Amino acid sequence: MTLADMAADDLAGLVTSLRDEYEQLKGKGLKLDLTRGKPSAEQLDLANALLTLPSQTTADGVDVRNYGGLAGLPEIRSIFAELLGVGLDQIVAGNNSSLTMMHDTLVYHLLRGGLDSPRPWALEEKVRFLAPVPGYDRHFALLESFGIEMITVPMNDDGPDAEECARLVATDPSIKGMWVVPTYANPTGAVCSQEVAAALAAMPTAAPDFRIFWDNAYAVHHLDGVEAKTADIVSLAQASGHPNRPIMFASTSKITFAGAGVAFLAGSRDTVAWYLENLGNGSIGPDKVNQLAHAEFFGDAAGVRAHMVKHRDIMAPKFAAVGAALEARLGSYDVARWNTPHGGYFVNLDVVPGTASRVVELAKEAGIALTPAGSSFPYGKDPKDENIRLAPSLPPLDEVRTAMEGVALCVLLAAAEAKNTA
Ligand code: PMP
Repeated sequence: MTLADMAADDLAGLVTSLRDEYEQLKGKGLKLDLTRGKPSAEQLDLANALLTLPSQTTADGVDVRNYGGLAGLPEIRSIFAELLGVGLDQIVAGNNSSLTMMHDTLVYHLLRGGLDSPRPWALEEKVRFLAPVPGYDRHFALLESFGIEMITVPMNDDGPDAEECARLVATDPSIKGMWVVPTYANPTGAVCSQEVAAALAAMPTAAPDFRIFWDNAYAVHHLDGVEAKTADIVSLAQASGHPNRPIMFASTSKITFAGAGVAFLAGSRDTVAWYLENLGNGSIGPDKVNQLAHAEFFGDAAGVRAHMVKHRDIMAPKFAAVGAALEARLGSYDVARWNTPHGGYFVNLDVVPGTASRVVELAKEAGIALTPAGSSFPYGKDPKDENIRLAPSLPPLDEVRTAMEGVALCVLLAAAEAKNTA
């Protein structure tokens, strides 16, 4: 029976028994963590061979121990050019973090202006970005740190709401850009369709230098055989006359070592030249030692795909455990909705509106750490207080099971309490 259909007495009885059960849960003294999308130790072990690589020189005789090669080694760029669907001269291999590349790209726009910018963004009266929600908290924090205002737009199953984006950007020149996580978005797992990407690439914008920050962090991170293919934003933008609109980012953080991988930036040839010109003032070249180690470790693009199958084998059971625990406990009550992602690192859980903060609090008191409610929204504010991001990658499978049984209990208890006092 759904919670909504329950008679008052039955509901009061349910609250009492759930509270008993919750007290027992607290008594277990759990210490579990589903907060951030970190790879598990088992996943990191898959790439341990990196620690004994690389050779000192590339096949072309480049000594990777020395300065130079601002755009990164062709050996690793060619592998990711193939995976990301761009040409070798459209991709830069950098250091260990794509988030840093996004940060720097934003700063260059603010201080010096981008291609097609009438002036640096910092000289504009106001700069705004579209923020598809729910989205990635660090994207939002980055914009907030520079005083860039965010306008939320819905993140649908096929990507950002393109009609709403087009409506907003058509007349407001202060809207300079937007975020898109096109493949297995953080946190909803949505995949941006070719149609939505085409609409975003083609939409007329009042700002001549509108940018799509296309963060393809999970391009190859499949959880099952569906294997979504990322929309080809760079070609679409080129074809619709806005070649410099998209700037693509990716990294091996969740392929090899998180925080010790290789990050990439891609876009039009002019975008790459613009980025390197700015970067060149602050760098004599990236960490080619790590780049060559990665190139040798993978061999080729097929090597990356084969490696990701090993990740999938570790991750898929954890995602299945999340779905199973939620279904087992909540299925009949109609108090929550969650997705079954085909890739990425997160499960998106929507609970009864107004109870997400309470669920996170209940879980915390029972020793289960969840990402703070609202963190998938700009300024940490979920207007409906219903969204919770679950990150099951880090703990071992049995801990994911235990944690999720606890989370499901907290979801039901918060829902029943809210209904009981309504
Ligand atoms: N983008 C998204 C969407 C992410 O989820 C993450 C990691 N959680 C990052 C970027 C960070 O990537 P990197 O380690 O390359 O800085």
